[in-house]
Amino acid sequence: MDVRAQTSMVFHLDKCIGCHTCSIACKNVWTDRKGTEYMWWNNVETKPGTGYPTAWEDQNKYQGGWKTDGQKLELRSTSRRHVVANIFHHPHMPSMDDYYEPWTYDYQHLFNAPEGSDQPTARPLSMVTGEPMEIEAGPNWDDDLGGSPVYAENDSNFDDVSEDLKAQMFAIERLVFFYFPRICNHCLNPACVASCPSGALYKRGEDGIVLVDQQICRAWRSCVAACPYKKTFFNWNTGKAEKCILCYPRLETGQAPACFHSCVGRIRYLGVLLYDASRLEEVAKLPDDQLVEGQRSLILDPFDPEVIAEARKNGVHDSVIQAAQDSPIYKFVKVWKIALPPHIEYRTLPMLFYVPPMSPVMAAQSETGVAHEDQGFFHDIENSRVPMQFLAKLFGAGHENKVRYALKKQKAVRWYRRAVTVGDVPMAEAEEMLRQADCTPEEAQAIYRLTAICTFEERFVIPPAHREEALAMLEDPLAVKQSVGFGFQGPPPHRGP
Ligand code: SF4
Ligand code: SF4
Repeated sequence: MDVRAQTSMVFHLDKCIGCHTCSIACKNVWTDRKGTEYMWWNNVETKPGTGYPTAWEDQNKYQGGWKTDGQKLELRSTSRRHVVANIFHHPHMPSMDDYYEPWTYDYQHLFNAPEGSDQPTARPLSMVTGEPMEIEAGPNWDDDLGGSPVYAENDSNFDDVSEDLKAQMFAIERLVFFYFPRICNHCLNPACVASCPSGALYKRGEDGIVLVDQQICRAWRSCVAACPYKKTFFNWNTGKAEKCILCYPRLETGQAPACFHSCVGRIRYLGVLLYDASRLEEVAKLPDDQLVEGQRSLILDPFDPEVIAEARKNGVHDSVIQAAQDSPIYKFVKVWKIALPPHIEYRTLPMLFYVPPMSPVMAAQSETGVAHEDQGFFHDIENSRVPMQFLAKLFGAGHENKVRYALKKQKAVRWYRRAVTVGDVPMAEAEEMLRQADCTPEEAQAIYRLTAICTFEERFVIPPAHREEALAMLEDPLAVKQSVGFGFQGPPPHRGP
């Protein structure tokens, strides 16, 4: 067992209201410089939809992530071997059209326009050419267009959904969509790190955050092609790769990342997980239908004395072990099993998990009041307005059982809480539903608490960064050679009388 600590995240999709506050918080903190105009380290997509960059989930187009034949695990496109062949033209690299052409407005015209009979307007100007432009795309251009034939119907998660179901879903009275906020997943098996020929990308030992060393980056852009989630970007001005850094300077001072802190829907949770790094390759090679369970098995029980002993042996600080025991992520992912990784079939083992969204209640107005389709308060999971196959493609590598489990449990918790607070659902019925969803009343209460009435401290359990140790490791042993001797940072203990 090789126990390591990983800062991990859960996004509860039922709670996201698509306000984009997270994206703006991130943009203002990190990407308002020259060369970053088109970058959105955090973006919020409407699902079904094609996202940003457009159709990023279509790996036939982008060839991102890993593939396996059972024996070998290989990057799909840009391995270090292939970088020279692709040096002048990488056929699978997203281009500006796949993101969008960034623009600003001619604000000065509002002040300087000569007097006339019309109200002056600020025309959009391309940030690439400086010329006036027609805006035709943007990072959330498909916002709320859940039923559109241009965006929603081209979502690659519909590939395995039957034509009947698609037709039913896009019928105007059944239209439904949900929001899908995305940041870098800080994967356990990051394709971006593996693909970089210069070794500029690295995963921090102490907390698993994936970063780019700007001094070492040589603009090969292999990471851009290799990340299947398209969460590394290329800064044309500095000639360096950039990506989400999980606000590590904030984390190191005990603050939640900017997008987490500002999240209006309070959908975001952050905490530490302990995992077994010695089994990474074995898990990444598992067949698609075993990947979710395989990744879960990597996550270790932070209360297990053997795990604690091995973690200490690897230098994991006791305060980090304590944080792992209090981690909301551990509960969502491992104990309750209601948070799932996105597109685990890309085999990067993402460490951002999503609680899949419930669909709205199917109801119709009748003369006597509102009639629910199945006469229950919450719709039948099997007849979700977002088809189960669609969610399974997104969160279960195409397999429905894990998604069904998560949705069933969420529904049972809602029934149970309805029985507790309103009392118009028989308690016996609610408890039976909990039993069928593999949930106890205590667990339902805990899920309800962490989902609905959680405090800031419950959502973000950030361990102390122990900068004192990390900084000590950074110090050059030669720097203090004159004063205390080679290899010492303070004077050695005095010996003799
Ligand atoms: S999401 Fe992409 S950029 Fe982030 S760690 Fe995974 S492979 Fe790298
Ligand atoms: S701030 Fe929170 S609720 Fe708003 S879009 Fe972002 S993730 Fe969703």
